[in-house]
Amino acid sequence: MSDLKVELTAPNGKKITLPTGLFINNEFVKSSSGEKITSINPSDESEICSVEAASADDVDKAVKAARAAFNDPSWRDLGATERGALMYKWADLIEEHKEALATLETWDNGKPYQVALNEDLGEVVSTIRYYAGWADKITGETIPTTPQKFAYTLKQPIGVCGQIIPWNYPLAMAAWKLGPAIAAGNTVVLKPAEQTPLSILYFASLIPEVFPKGVINIVNGHGRETGHAIASHLDIDKVAFTGSTITGKQIMKTASINMKNITLETGGKSPLLVFDDADLDQAAKWAHIGIMSNQGQICTATSRILVQEGIYDKFVELFKEVVKSTSKVGDPFSDDTFQGPQVTKAQYERVLSYIEAGKSEGAELATGGVPHKNVGGGKGFFIEPTVFTNVKDDMKIYKEEIFGPFVVIASFKTEEDALQMANDTTYGLGSAVFTTNIERAHRVAARIEAGMVWINSSNDSDFRVPFGGVKQSGIGRELGEAGLGAYTQTKAVHVNMGLKL
Ligand code: ADP
Repeated sequence: MSDLKVELTAPNGKKITLPTGLFINNEFVKSSSGEKITSINPSDESEICSVEAASADDVDKAVKAARAAFNDPSWRDLGATERGALMYKWADLIEEHKEALATLETWDNGKPYQVALNEDLGEVVSTIRYYAGWADKITGETIPTTPQKFAYTLKQPIGVCGQIIPWNYPLAMAAWKLGPAIAAGNTVVLKPAEQTPLSILYFASLIPEVFPKGVINIVNGHGRETGHAIASHLDIDKVAFTGSTITGKQIMKTASINMKNITLETGGKSPLLVFDDADLDQAAKWAHIGIMSNQGQICTATSRILVQEGIYDKFVELFKEVVKSTSKVGDPFSDDTFQGPQVTKAQYERVLSYIEAGKSEGAELATGGVPHKNVGGGKGFFIEPTVFTNVKDDMKIYKEEIFGPFVVIASFKTEEDALQMANDTTYGLGSAVFTTNIERAHRVAARIEAGMVWINSSNDSDFRVPFGGVKQSGIGRELGEAGLGAYTQTKAVHVNMGLKL
């Protein structure tokens, strides 16, 4: 057991004892294959530590633990109010440990520490508390039929849920999925992304203080092995995934093996529309948040800004000023840093390759477009916030999801043009509209093909409000009451009240 822990001192001086095993049945265990994942600090490319990576056999052990927990009276028959109380206790524990959790998140992922601490961890705690409150408010219906039949529905947990999460918000994505699953009485096998395996291990170490064994199991591992083992496992009843559209399609196909219930939250190329009656100053500030927050690594990032032609030049100038004054690139542990490094070398190179594509396609590079070399002795995956203007709708940089601090700005003539351009994409996740015309705001919101529309803001998602996409941006909803619906199933009960044959 002792070799399944490391003593770490983070760049901010915080000392952390981190378990490195697979978390199965409330214990940290070794991988059966001996395979490991090495976590890299994206700020200076140094190795942080290595952790165990699960094989298909390990996933099977985790599923067996989750199934046993699901059928165990200590969980199955636990009162809903008591289940909620456990979740409140869990949220309090996470809050107590938020500095260590945020430190690991920043070290491993590269996001600014203040963001990890105040925004991500704040969201984790709020989401768990929100769903704790739901635990004893999950109710079915009584349905009037005939005097001789009483019918009602039960909202029951789905069973053992596989959850596959991405690297951009490791703990928040875990909370979005664990919160509703646990509130509804399911049990879980969760796989973090291989790029960010650390914070979730510390998070896992808090679980035995709250939950019976096997209720939550966490297995680090690679997508093609561990993720695939979850999606294809015959004793997993549901799989919930957040990540790229291409992987989402693969998981959907794999999950068909036993017709798993699925929730998918995938990619986007979300439009942000600025009409000529908008408050331009506000539009520029929100548009900046909408694409440059979290190093541009947000599935709902409003990465296509569409501006009405009469105000195009003025908006571009204002937007460039906001980028210059706000997007300070730097060490994520410095308090004044807005933008840290991209999460991995692969993501860094991907963004740089799109910068080359933009230049060769003839778009105008308004600012950025180069690596940022003034941090970490020239090492690390830092990129200057990048803005391309005069972008045309047939360009690759206009159509494809880039997932970095990279935005394209194009112009439109009329509201009809704006809608046509906004909807001319295979994606349909987020969107934003800036206008002071209340009729236009709601008219456009209704016609945009997206799971979410922000009117006069961008990307200020909220754990109480449903989140998800249409078209190739996903299936199903997370957060809010809708997110709870994704973790319950309806059973209809027919009661004969005296119909004699
Ligand atoms: P990215 O391309 O940004 O790394 P992915 O969609 O590939 O995003 O990854 C998101 C999550 O899906 C990660 O946890 C990853 O390990 C997992 N994953 C990747 N490929 C598969 C797969 N074939 N089956 C199941 N999970 C996978």
